[in-house]
Amino acid sequence: MRINEAWHKANVMPKNATLDQRILRHAEHAKHCACRPVPPPLLELVEKHEG
Ligand SMILES: [Zn+2]
Repeated sequence: MRINEAWHKANVMPKNATLDQRILRHAEHAKHCACRPVPPPLLELVEKHEG
């Protein structure tokens, strides 16, 4: 398990993030960091976002 601290510091999740923002962030997060998996309810949407 690796944390990309620089990415996390530069990409803090807003408290009131919309679903779109969360999907985008998880997609970006998966590219840059592997500290935790995408939550299952979002995984399908993130994969769709990835194309
Ligand atoms: Zn992370």
